[in-house]
Amino acid sequence: MTEQSRLSDSVRILRGVGPGMQEGLKKLGIESVADLLFHLPMRYEDRSQTKSIGDCRPGDRVLVEGFIDHSSIVRHRRAMLVVTLSDDTGTLNLRFFNFHAAQIRSLSRGVKLQAFGEIRGGARGIEMIHPSYQKSKDADDEADARLTPIYPSTEGIRQASWINLSEQALKILREDTSSLTELLPAALLQRQQLPELKTALLMLHRPDIDSELANMNRLDENFHHPARDRLVIEELLAHHLSMRRIQQLQQRRQAQAFPLDSTLEDRFLQRLPFKLTPAQQRVIAEIQQNLNRPQPMMRLLQGDVGCGKTVVAALSLLPIVAAGYQVAITAPTELLAEQHRDYFAQTLQPLGIDTVWLSSRVTGKAREQALHAIANGAAVVVGTHSLMQKAVVFKQLGLVIIDEQHRFGVHQRLALREKGQSADHWPHQLIMTATPIPRTLAMTAYAGLQISVIDELPPGRTAVTTVAIDQQRREQVIQRIALACREGRQAYWVCTLVEESELLEAQAAEDTAQLLSAELPDINIALVHGRMKPAEKSTIMAAFRSGEIKLLVATTVIEVGVDVPNASLMVIDNAERLGLSQLHQLRGRVGRGSEKSSCVLLFKPPLGETARARLDIMRATNDGFRIAEKDLELRGPGEVLGTRQTGALQFRLADLARDAALIQQVPQLAESLLKDQQRTDALIARWLGNAERYAEA
Ligand code: ADP
Ligand code: MG
Repeated sequence: MTEQSRLSDSVRILRGVGPGMQEGLKKLGIESVADLLFHLPMRYEDRSQTKSIGDCRPGDRVLVEGFIDHSSIVRHRRAMLVVTLSDDTGTLNLRFFNFHAAQIRSLSRGVKLQAFGEIRGGARGIEMIHPSYQKSKDADDEADARLTPIYPSTEGIRQASWINLSEQALKILREDTSSLTELLPAALLQRQQLPELKTALLMLHRPDIDSELANMNRLDENFHHPARDRLVIEELLAHHLSMRRIQQLQQRRQAQAFPLDSTLEDRFLQRLPFKLTPAQQRVIAEIQQNLNRPQPMMRLLQGDVGCGKTVVAALSLLPIVAAGYQVAITAPTELLAEQHRDYFAQTLQPLGIDTVWLSSRVTGKAREQALHAIANGAAVVVGTHSLMQKAVVFKQLGLVIIDEQHRFGVHQRLALREKGQSADHWPHQLIMTATPIPRTLAMTAYAGLQISVIDELPPGRTAVTTVAIDQQRREQVIQRIALACREGRQAYWVCTLVEESELLEAQAAEDTAQLLSAELPDINIALVHGRMKPAEKSTIMAAFRSGEIKLLVATTVIEVGVDVPNASLMVIDNAERLGLSQLHQLRGRVGRGSEKSSCVLLFKPPLGETARARLDIMRATNDGFRIAEKDLELRGPGEVLGTRQTGALQFRLADLARDAALIQQVPQLAESLLKDQQRTDALIARWLGNAERYAEA
């Protein structure tokens, strides 16, 4: 860091940022020092007060201080470092699953240590899993005068690094007066009594110990703070403006109009093994009308898991294929993309429509052939997002279908249409999602997007019966599953972990699969997880689909889209750790056939208030919309942002429930800004990045 450091400089100029860290930051969209400033704490902790170990209760998030009595590596399925910490009032175990040699050495007997984390009830008294810790300061050091910010993070970046990096960024902010532009109009700030940008950033990154921001931890929907509100409004405006801009440009774009080909459609419908539901028929009509206009369609198809979106996609693509244009179908996971490959190949081939398959695992000659076919106009191309790579060139793309875009960040996907741009014609786009979009969100990020809703399930579905069971009764659950499997039914056993780590999750699933296999030798059990080779995964899925495998132990890789109608039972391990939308997605894998289905939510007590509420609503309803609403309600600021549990909102700061009132103001505030091209550009660039892409969208 030099005298001339600027906010626009790359994060590389900061101490502690090597290539690895730079890569990690980039994943979070942080490239410049200024980007770091907009990576804001999700909550704060008061670490100025320690609590007596004897007073700690499960569920408390506390700072404790004591001496290390004992420290050892315990091997129990996998190695774990266990450190026993005592003060005058009691003893506490600290457990670490990931640890390194230096850590073992430094955490030795007699060391005085401060540890911060959540207290849990363990088999041998209370414990903390992966606490943050530091060696105690000398007594005469002054206590922290500020709240400790907790930043949303990603694997490999510790909280200590965030503090260090933000500290450096804040220093540059204080010194570099020129480069952080205030983008909100002064009149607006004054009217709403909001602080200026720089003041707000300093306040949010380093609040005083007695700041109201300390309360951001709590599940308080009404929590507001001017510094936060100010940034939330800015962020919401940026999203809204980018959407409006896309819309404006959109209206000037041209697309090929595709009239209905009723002969082809009739042939398709004749082969269909079921009757379309009225809701399916309605949305198909909406889509077909849209496709027959010379403006590009930009439509979101929303419908609960299992409502039958895939067949809608199939019917939507027929007019395009009939006109000799191409259709690209993408899915977020290999597993789901393969399922689509099989479905579309099977249903379209009898109509003489060829499909081409492309994913990152199609390599060498096969890849060349696929690329060649695509460039020569192959009708239907199915794949993962790798379809959108530069090397993939379409001859004449008429429609892009994106499945299970159940993140809200849909408009970022709009950039994919660039693929199909030829001369001045743009492809139509259909995005399918199982996540209902709350009205508030529709007002900002989705302004102007066309939306179709499938609001009924195919007939004959039986609601999934859901029970929540204490994991102490695990053995009973295992026996119940075994019984069902012996009767020819099929089941999922889903392993989940709270950490965002595929590796740990895979390990947990492996352990469970081994355990179950040992206990139930007569039942054909298999394992599927995200770290397996794709070929292995698809072999196993095929065997499960054919009924050869009875019990499938899986990680959350099966969360999205997997369709095996015969599977009618599901056990979700550690269900208390998952968010509602994820639980709902998972449960949607059963209840697809005519068989009566059930779902067991295995939980580990004691349950926190929110976790209990989540399990309750899961037991009470199968209705995705009610669940999504409840999710918003429950998903307070106390939940960890940036993890899968939140349903992965693309907002960095805004919270749909809490900021509903601010959201309502946004369209009006945007009106005056829209005319100010430069300011709009700057806002979009600051919050959404990649300004050129939006300008072109
Ligand atoms: P999702 O909307 O979750 O993607 P799918 O398209 O995978 O749902 O459909 C779920 C299951 O329902 C599939 O097995 C599909 O064949 C079946 N299905 C779809 N539409 C109907 C219908 N109208 N009647 C009966 N079954 C249907
Ligand atoms: Mg689907």
